[in-house]
Amino acid sequence: MRMSIQKQPNTLPHVVVVGAGFGGMYAAKRLAREARRGLLQLTVVNDINYFLFTPLLHEVATGALSPTSVIEPLREAVNGKNVRVLTARVRSVDAGRRVVMLEPSDKHQSTSPLPSPVQERGLPYDYLIIATGAKSNRVRISGAEAHTFSLKSLSDAVAIRNAVIERFEQAARISSLEERARTLSFAVIGGGPTGVELVAELAEFLRELEEKYCPIHTASGLSRFHLTPTLSCPGEGATRPTGCATITLVQSREELLPQYHPDLRRAAAARLRAIGVRTLFNEQVVSVTPSEVVLSSGANLSTSLTVMTTGVVPSPLPIDGAETEYLHGRLLVDSTLRVRGSDTIFAVGDAAALANAEGHSHPMLAQVAVPQGIAAANNIIATISGRPLRSFHYRMRGELVSIGQWYAVADLQRVRFTGRFAWYLWRTIYLFKFASSRKRWRIAFEWTINLFYSRDTASIR
Ligand SMILES: Cc1cc2nc3c(=O)[nH]c(=O)nc-3n(C[C@H](O)[C@H](O)[C@H](O)COP(=O)(O)OP(=O)(O)OC[C@H]3O[C@@H](n4cnc5c(N)ncnc54)[C@H](O)[C@@H]3O)c2cc1C
Repeated sequence: MRMSIQKQPNTLPHVVVVGAGFGGMYAAKRLAREARRGLLQLTVVNDINYFLFTPLLHEVATGALSPTSVIEPLREAVNGKNVRVLTARVRSVDAGRRVVMLEPSDKHQSTSPLPSPVQERGLPYDYLIIATGAKSNRVRISGAEAHTFSLKSLSDAVAIRNAVIERFEQAARISSLEERARTLSFAVIGGGPTGVELVAELAEFLRELEEKYCPIHTASGLSRFHLTPTLSCPGEGATRPTGCATITLVQSREELLPQYHPDLRRAAAARLRAIGVRTLFNEQVVSVTPSEVVLSSGANLSTSLTVMTTGVVPSPLPIDGAETEYLHGRLLVDSTLRVRGSDTIFAVGDAAALANAEGHSHPMLAQVAVPQGIAAANNIIATISGRPLRSFHYRMRGELVSIGQWYAVADLQRVRFTGRFAWYLWRTIYLFKFASSRKRWRIAFEWTINLFYSRDTASIR
């Protein structure tokens, strides 16, 4: 039996993980195993009581998945002997005293959820992992904070879904075709993977909403849909080539998905065209008002709802008492993922930067955060056990972007392909990324239902 098993819980080294996203959650799962064996005690602090699976947020925003399908309750995911989960916000780290300073999370209703000694004196740690990720920051563009939506949290996704449905409710009460077209004009800013995935799903969501809200009139003049018989659409006839709603993607570069192979960039652009998305290339957003997006070319894009997928910035914690360094806002770490200037603080994921010889860091991706979280946990376990630390090495295995139903582009380093198989692969990979089989089954079930029925178009209030 190992010596550490004999220790009393309060003498065990205390490891604190701040942030339970991809990096923090996988670090916590690894550390919890050792906590249950009695090697350490673990506290996970997160400002919300669940883990959020961001890669499927666009499906929540477009009615394809229900909100609770993409989250996992933290206390179910990380638990056991010597393990504690705290729902609170960490304000800062005092590296000299080895404490993290907490405050109640503004994402939860309770006004004073913390025991007062912890709130006043802070939570002591022996080892700390900072995994606080990134946040949406739209203040650089005039009007963006007030008049655009972001897609970073579950509440963002639900807000987008509700707002899209609300525009159709408004349009159903408008008789002027022009005004209705303005109400149903949508825009997504940013032609990276998140923007492309979102705009494609939105285009399909809009088509389904049109079927419910904008009946198609046949040549005989009869409405095929009777839900809103007074509402008709421009381009009425036996078919509706243009539809009521319009959706535009604004990209600052000359191509979409700049980090992908040129063949895949072109394939993505062609696919978006085919499903009715208009893409504006080489356009920067200058400002946003409630009814339009002002572009760098001087053009004004009329829109009633704009989602910005750009403007995501790292959000590392402020650290007092250590000479930390930053790279593009991310905490610089050494090859073992220890924050430069500290022996006991590690950082992983979007909040951390591990610079290579050219001074670049890994991309801000879940597929980087997960192995970093595990590697940082392993290095803490190694330190406690008196073993040497290991350097973190990562090689991108590939990237997949879904572009609506039945289509994806896949860049698996040596192999590149597009279409239905890539889409199946995308779905299978993401399904198996869920830690809990309950959520896996739930998502598989919802995806299967979606093959036979239209999306849910009820607002969530
Ligand atoms: C819409 C969308 C789609 C994406 N799709 C993909 C994809 O397909 N593939 C991919 O690889 N990556 C994808 N990403 C990127 C991926 O989500 C991030 O790279 C990944 O989540 C980073 O993990 P992390 O642990 O560093 O941070 P996060 O996962 O963001 O977790 C940070 C956690 O810390 C908490 N937190 C923050 N500050 C504090 C504080 N002060 N106190 C307490 N808790 C705090 C947050 O609430 C959160 O729970 C996507 C991102 C978005 C927004």
